[in-house]
Amino acid sequence: MGLEAALPVDNILTTQLNRVINWARRSAVWPMPFATACCGIELMATASSRFDLARFGAEVFRFSPRQADLLIVAGRVSIKMLPVLQRIYVQMTEPKWVISMGACASTGGVFDTYAVVQGIDQFIPVDVYVPGCPPRPEMLIEGVMAIQRIIDNENIPYDGDGKRLPLEVAVTPTYEPAAQPVDVTVGAS
Ligand code: SF4
Repeated sequence: MGLEAALPVDNILTTQLNRVINWARRSAVWPMPFATACCGIELMATASSRFDLARFGAEVFRFSPRQADLLIVAGRVSIKMLPVLQRIYVQMTEPKWVISMGACASTGGVFDTYAVVQGIDQFIPVDVYVPGCPPRPEMLIEGVMAIQRIIDNENIPYDGDGKRLPLEVAVTPTYEPAAQPVDVTVGAS
């Protein structure tokens, strides 16, 4: 957003201002959904009232890359679709982050075919991988929280040429799945 460029060189005021800017950014992440398959349904559930992504300030999904700073790729990406994904990523304004949601986006999943991209990280930098097929909404929320921690730490790596490097953080679940409310044993008499 260019705010950093307008700040003077490092001093205590700048440090405090950076903390405020990071707090504002991490409290109002605007995701851009790139949902192509079943993982997209879990993505929708994450924003719904039961899981309530709004608790983390990240419920304002934007469908214009210019207005979003978190790209969530949910589902398999075909070779034909890849240029669209790349264009969306390029059009998003800095600073921006990327979550790869589910096995298909991260590895191609079970679709080991010539038509499906075997991991979007071969083409765009991925900051957080959310494992699962599909990941539960809690897992995606873990991913969003990982992004918030990254923003808190101003952890945006670039190489010597100013090219954005991926962070490649894989989240692991910290929640305990709830027991089934009713017995679902198949064939029980
Ligand atoms: S990871 Fe599983 S749930 Fe997600 S898009 Fe692939 S097949 Fe569907």
